[in-house]
Amino acid sequence: MKYPEEIIQRVRDAADIVALVGDYVPLKKAGSSYKGLCPFHSEKTPSFVVSPSRNSFHCFGCGKGGNAITFLMEMEKIPFPEALQLLAEKTGIPLPKPQETERDLEAERERDRMFALQEFAGKFFYDQLTTPGGRKAVEYLKARKITGETAKKFQIGYAPDTWDALKKAALKAKFDEKELLKGGLLVQNDEKGRNYDKFRDRVIFPVRNNFGKIIAFGGRALGEGPGPKYLNSPETPLFKKGECLYLLDQARDAIRREGHVLVVEGYFDAVTLHQNDIQHVVATLGTALTKEHARQLKRYTQEVVLLYDADQAGQDAAVRGFEPLLSEALRVRVLTLPDAKDPDEYLMKHSREELIFLLKGAPEFFRWRAAGLREKAKGRPVEELIRSVQSLASFLLRVPDEASVQAACAAIEGELGLDNFDMRAIVNAERKSGSRVGPAERQAPVSKVAPLLPGREVEGEFLALLVADRAEYVKWAVQSVSPDLFIEEDLKVLFSNLIQGSMDAATARMAPALEPFFMQIEAQPDKFQPKKTLITQLYATLEMRHRKRQMILVKEELGAAEKAGEISKAAELAGRFVELKNQYHEMNHLKSEPHE
Ligand SMILES: [Zn+2]
Repeated sequence: MKYPEEIIQRVRDAADIVALVGDYVPLKKAGSSYKGLCPFHSEKTPSFVVSPSRNSFHCFGCGKGGNAITFLMEMEKIPFPEALQLLAEKTGIPLPKPQETERDLEAERERDRMFALQEFAGKFFYDQLTTPGGRKAVEYLKARKITGETAKKFQIGYAPDTWDALKKAALKAKFDEKELLKGGLLVQNDEKGRNYDKFRDRVIFPVRNNFGKIIAFGGRALGEGPGPKYLNSPETPLFKKGECLYLLDQARDAIRREGHVLVVEGYFDAVTLHQNDIQHVVATLGTALTKEHARQLKRYTQEVVLLYDADQAGQDAAVRGFEPLLSEALRVRVLTLPDAKDPDEYLMKHSREELIFLLKGAPEFFRWRAAGLREKAKGRPVEELIRSVQSLASFLLRVPDEASVQAACAAIEGELGLDNFDMRAIVNAERKSGSRVGPAERQAPVSKVAPLLPGREVEGEFLALLVADRAEYVKWAVQSVSPDLFIEEDLKVLFSNLIQGSMDAATARMAPALEPFFMQIEAQPDKFQPKKTLITQLYATLEMRHRKRQMILVKEELGAAEKAGEISKAAELAGRFVELKNQYHEMNHLKSEPHE
């Protein structure tokens, strides 16, 4: 699918990048640009910069950068055309019909058909509630205190107790069996070679993507039959279980508003909470929390409250869920409900206000965990308890800020109430032994994208400052600065063009290679003043580096010449080396400076 370049340009230029990014990341003004915590990697201090004047963003931690369209692609995990369409809608610029190839059209048609099929199935299941066969599902929902209004809002439905009700209806609506199989709605029976409905005699919950489109279903068995209590759609081109959170599309605004998200385990838990006007709730789809889940939640909040089943399985799941949340640097609290096995049951017995009260007091993860371990170790030797609590130290080492570590240690000590138990000391010991084992493993890799190398940074900042405003600096550079000072090939070419006059400063300012450096300068204007001094310093650094490199090269040549017995060449090189070395040491300050 292709759009004319000038339209893409217009949409990109019309986009308000600060407002767009600000929808996902809290931003603070810094100089003429904005700063925030990077949504693409875990960090505690902001290195993510948005520049309204350049209409772009850049992260100095992980290297991600781009414009409004690429931001949407990354954030929403959507292809270019969809991001462009979304942005065009926001900016009010009408898009012309895209120039599409036959293959684009085919792929798009197929995707549209897949969404249409899920939509069709969702409506089919919902409509079953008004048929005689669906009456038992209605009774079941009533017994679980789900109102008709809620069923309608979430399109909760019923899959009839037959082998082929959906199949028949879908074929009649001109879908074919291949599509039904691919969409996860039919199951292949190898023995008889016949395909039958995947969901039978179940209450059905449609699962939607972030744009509210149905992508999968979850089904709860009505009776206590032989099949599993819960059944989900298999993974399809539209649905990846480990990436999807039930009701996230409905909960986003509430999550932002409340400042945290509640994660529950079951469809009924999530729906019941929403029905009780607690809307910042999502559910995992019968899987443990994944890193991808954590990343998605991080787009809306910094804090997660786990509200899992009160039984051992639920509590174990909360412990497992902590790991991916921690690796995304999210704060975690855990709420264990008294006298109910899950939130759904709790709300049958108690009021919404009671639940909110408990929620406010939900302990931070480490306090909760210490209490759990103490409970478990009741009546057993105290050493056992201490050993189990020690295992928390490795998690504490990964908490990014020291204040939180201190608070967690104090909470653990308070929870255990043991004399002379010093959690802080245990963490410090663990840190030491860990650093002996392998410091490389312990340091969380910031990113796979290569961050700016120190060399590149010097070259780029130098070049950006040269072309930033005064033409005099470029004039000075033409006379005094050699392109040989640059190692980075793209920056070297840029500089050569500049001093040869084949590119002017204004054009150089727009060069994508200089983009991150300009953003750096805009974000910290004070650090880059006065410009003249800075240019001088950077120039000195480049000159020194250049000499040093030459020294290394000459030394290598010298070694080779000596080995080969080329005596006169070796003597010449040795002389050259001494010369360079003297120059290098004499270069305490630079002779040539740009003049105003
Ligand atoms: Zn980043």
